[in-house]
Amino acid sequence: MAENEIEETQEKKGLNFVEQMVWDDLQAGKNGGRLNTRFPPEPNGYLHIGHAKAICMDFGVAEKFGGTCNLRFDDTNPVKEDVEYVDSIREDIHWLGFDWGDREYYASDYFPQLYDLAIRLIKEGKAYVDDQTSEEIARQKGTPTVAGTESPYRNRSVEENLDLFQRMNAGEFEEGARVLRAKIDMASDNMHFRDPIMYRIIKHPHHRTGTTWNVYPMYDFAHGQSDYFEGVTHSICTLEFVPHRPLYEHFVKELADESYCPRQIEFNRLNLTYTVMSKRKLLQLVKEGLVAGWDDPRMPTISGMRRRGFTPRSIRNFIDKIGYTKYEALNSVSLLEHAVRDDLNAVSTRVMAVMNPVKVVITNYPEDKVEMVEMENNPEDPQSGTHQMPFSREIFIERDDFMENPPKKFFRLAPEGEVRLKGAYIIKCTGVKKDADGNIEEIYCTYDPETRSGLPGSMRKVKGTLHWVSAAHAVDATARLYDRLFNVENPAAETERDFREMLNPESLKVVEGIKVEPYLAENARPLEHFQFQRIGYFTPDKDSTPEKLIFNRTIALKDSWEKAQKK
Ligand code: ATP
Ligand code: MG
Repeated sequence: MAENEIEETQEKKGLNFVEQMVWDDLQAGKNGGRLNTRFPPEPNGYLHIGHAKAICMDFGVAEKFGGTCNLRFDDTNPVKEDVEYVDSIREDIHWLGFDWGDREYYASDYFPQLYDLAIRLIKEGKAYVDDQTSEEIARQKGTPTVAGTESPYRNRSVEENLDLFQRMNAGEFEEGARVLRAKIDMASDNMHFRDPIMYRIIKHPHHRTGTTWNVYPMYDFAHGQSDYFEGVTHSICTLEFVPHRPLYEHFVKELADESYCPRQIEFNRLNLTYTVMSKRKLLQLVKEGLVAGWDDPRMPTISGMRRRGFTPRSIRNFIDKIGYTKYEALNSVSLLEHAVRDDLNAVSTRVMAVMNPVKVVITNYPEDKVEMVEMENNPEDPQSGTHQMPFSREIFIERDDFMENPPKKFFRLAPEGEVRLKGAYIIKCTGVKKDADGNIEEIYCTYDPETRSGLPGSMRKVKGTLHWVSAAHAVDATARLYDRLFNVENPAAETERDFREMLNPESLKVVEGIKVEPYLAENARPLEHFQFQRIGYFTPDKDSTPEKLIFNRTIALKDSWEKAQKK
């Protein structure tokens, strides 16, 4: 084997099948050795995690082989599109860590060229104006095994077609009155070749071109040609476009030659358990107020995941892990959650927060004494440093961490029992105070002054370690506990049911009056990541202020602490 061949084979290792195809084209010197991909969102909604998979592919393969990736807004339907979506799409791609430089394009940039091509095809007898309704056209389409029926308008003269198409665009006819169709083959085995619609009349202002146009190209007539006009070499999309590929090639051939021709390659979509991914359904959730907007932390949108506290790295790691194939599959949302935990474990600052507080009075601790104890910010990251946390006579612990009549293996606080307060002292329970209904109001303890960390007594072993906050110094906060938005594993498969019936009523619980350590009042800024020790990962919501702290629970902690204690 020649040396460069060995190198090649090694370089090819670990490529997914799309990368492999791109690599082969580059090796074969196609398109002059150029590589240019594009990500083509329609600005009719916010991006979701499925789009992230496409983004990682489109930008990723370009990065890998030294090519470029364009951002092209596929803005061919003004009725559903909006600049709000354009802006959110830009922000989300950047947040994921990709950049398109100055290569931001719009299918609407090509409306003039597409229109010219349509005129040319009419002149060459390859397109005609059909006066039938869309229902009539659909009825004539046939089935995969039965040929379609030709339209009575199919053999109009070139002059008449030119005249009618120009008048369609001049606004002379109502929406739905006429369409422009490609004259291909009503008997083709591929349904997409049965005289597909190229243009329709839409009389709705476009967010970029205003009222310039009254006819708009269909996806199949716009996409391949836009790729061509832009110099795209590899047009990577999802599997549902496989049957469109011959038509893509058919239209592109009207423009391309041997020196340059874009190529469509398809991979499997991302589908996630307990999630819907259809933009139409997500829009419905937003419009009907069933969630608090596109960036509701329960939404599978990039903006929702960002607000929830997911990191871009965890999303990219997850997508790497599931990979790209040619078969549709349903991926488990727990794989994504696993990737989120993994990354948050590495990057989040450890803090103390008590979700359901009960007061503990340490009766042998001086009344007005305050000690500062030092807390590690992140044991996973030696560079992360420490912060100070006040300790005093009255503290809060979790109500669940105390039991008056505990079962045998309860290693938390109980009468006469001892626990360690993390970072501070060992305390022993000496009694409780109850209200008239028997609810515990206060717990009384004594502390052992020799057990503070750093002192020899700190080596003394007790089974349980609790998180806590100093009552006088703790700050009130609100916690929003998010869970899966749907309580059915594959909502899209339940075709008999309205997807809104499958919403999980427990997907959001708001807990007011949690007690957090004062460090958070100063340092909790949106998009920062915290681990509330023994509880889970949290991020300050965008509406959180130092006066009113609001934390979104990103994800619960797998409680390895407690597990380790049970051994
Ligand atoms: P629609 O076209 O119905 O509005 P869409 O989800 O296809 O919805 P687009 O804006 O057209 O939205 O998608 C842009 C790109 O993202 C396309 O190339 C599409 O194939 C890809 N994409 C969309 N959903 C997924 C998904 N679940 N997994 C992977 N890629 C996806
Ligand atoms: Mg689409």
